[in-house]
Amino acid sequence: MKLKAPVNIRILILLILILTIIVNFFYIRYLQSKIDNITIITCESDSLIALSPKYFDEPVVLLTPEFIEKYSKYKSPFNDGLTFNELLKKYIKNRWADHYGCIRGTRERKRVHEGMDLYAPENTPVYPIADYGIVTEVSDNPHYLVKVQCKKPSGKIDSVKIEYGKTVRILYPEGIESVYAHLNEVYVKLGQEVNGNTVVGLTGRTGNLRNSSKKSHLHLELRDEDNKSFDPRNRLRFTQACIRNFLGHLKVGEK
Ligand SMILES: [Zn+2]
Repeated sequence: MKLKAPVNIRILILLILILTIIVNFFYIRYLQSKIDNITIITCESDSLIALSPKYFDEPVVLLTPEFIEKYSKYKSPFNDGLTFNELLKKYIKNRWADHYGCIRGTRERKRVHEGMDLYAPENTPVYPIADYGIVTEVSDNPHYLVKVQCKKPSGKIDSVKIEYGKTVRILYPEGIESVYAHLNEVYVKLGQEVNGNTVVGLTGRTGNLRNSSKKSHLHLELRDEDNKSFDPRNRLRFTQACIRNFLGHLKVGEK
């Protein structure tokens, strides 16, 4: 009788151990499935790597503060290291007429200038305005037309088509897009991932600039997740909806 109790205890301990191993096994599997559901974005030698989730349709993407810090800082599209204010000082020719929001069009159909015009010599290389982006549109057509809203004298809102010329659109981690218009040359393809050193194209006079007296300039437009233009002087903005827009375009699992 004296020996039986320790045997029972031994059996009990053994059972607890086996049970613990089984519970741990399933718990580890559960944790593993959670890890698989996470897409990890890392910065490696100035390029972005999104690790693929294996078993889930909707991956969770981790955007670290370091990532945002590294890839979302506003840069000059001419890659000349200027701050935003220096950029405006150097490339904006006319304080009023070249900014966002100035009135364009005819008396019959007034529209708002949806970007800013940065005057640079013809064939100046242009770069993305952040260190990571995805090309979401390439319109390599001198007669490319953009539909913009305009106002009739009666106050009625109408739309009019204007020629942007060769146009490139790039989406950044904030979920906002930059539109470059009037380019002479375009060097990127739809869906291409670009960084701060990618030559996107060359400034020029395509589109409605061809027949105007204006000199070569980069029409820089910023658009939010609803494809609504906003004043580039407001800088880049980071919102939940914007980041969802960006993640929607990110090709997870492909380097
Ligand atoms: Zn313009």
